[in-house]
Amino acid sequence: MRAAVLDHYGEDAPSVRDFPDPEPAPGEALVRLRAAALNHVDLYMRGGGQGITHRLPLVLGVDGAGEVVSAPDGSGLSPGDRVLLYPAAFCGRCPECQRGEQPLCARVRIAGEHRHGTFAELIAMPAACWLPIPAGIGFEEAAALPVAYLTAWRMLFGWDRPLGPGQTVLVVGAGGGVASACVQLAHLAGARVLATSSSPEKLAHAAALGAAVTIDYRTEDVPKRVLAETGGAGVDLVVDNVGAATWGQSLRAVRRGGRVVTCGATTGGDPPAELQRLFIRQIQIQGSTMGSLEEFRRLLAVVAAGRLRPAIERVFTLEEVPAALAHLAAGAQRGKLVLRIG
Ligand code: ZN
Repeated sequence: MRAAVLDHYGEDAPSVRDFPDPEPAPGEALVRLRAAALNHVDLYMRGGGQGITHRLPLVLGVDGAGEVVSAPDGSGLSPGDRVLLYPAAFCGRCPECQRGEQPLCARVRIAGEHRHGTFAELIAMPAACWLPIPAGIGFEEAAALPVAYLTAWRMLFGWDRPLGPGQTVLVVGAGGGVASACVQLAHLAGARVLATSSSPEKLAHAAALGAAVTIDYRTEDVPKRVLAETGGAGVDLVVDNVGAATWGQSLRAVRRGGRVVTCGATTGGDPPAELQRLFIRQIQIQGSTMGSLEEFRRLLAVVAAGRLRPAIERVFTLEEVPAALAHLAAGAQRGKLVLRIG
């Protein structure tokens, strides 16, 4: 098969080349991928994937959708079924899996990180990781959903504190896949969305997705503007996946007793902790990665009901993975970058 393979680390990787077809292990379904989507973690893996247990060569790609080629008996999957990937292969037996918290499974192995991923013509993943694509949704839109929209879903509605009407959320760095998804989902839930970004194009994109207030963080004092927009209180929730460059602003934009959720640190992972501010203002910090199978099903139900379409900026081919990664690395995207495969 053709695949984007990480043979070594660096900006000249991965290479799109021939690679052996996957051989499904017991319990796994083989799927012919029709689309995949890019995520920042692809760049992280290309840069060394520090802290993520993996071996080279590795097929990159976390998000994917396609058609079932073969599946284990009793899995509920049949050849030809249109499916999308829950990218985390979980053990299904540990206490976290038993209570439905698959992202906390200690043995979790994510496609494109710990095991071969979706930038390929074929992939084998456990049958439990494949869900039906909602009717009316194409492969490319389906592939754009899992990482960005599931991650956004858990940050906004998970952790037993669902965001809803009457609440305010600040989405930092609107433009990227997860942040775009946060704007859309928070708006859909009836919350008032404030969004920051670095360019008029990205801010217009955020406004089109539902942001009521947009703030250019290069030219404006973000906390000051947020306080002005929230009667001096600050927002209930800040979603920040930018990291070091914006973390201080985020701590100043959240209300007393509010929450700052992070799912990424593209500008660095070591901003000042500001512990006095945290305890005096009783701010909660929550880390979040992807979401559970149940959260994924709820997200897909919203898509199936026709209430949500993923924001896709551009579609590339599998052979164009290097160009797509360069576009992602340039940081100018507005929505998901998707690969069309086959
Ligand atoms: Zn488990």
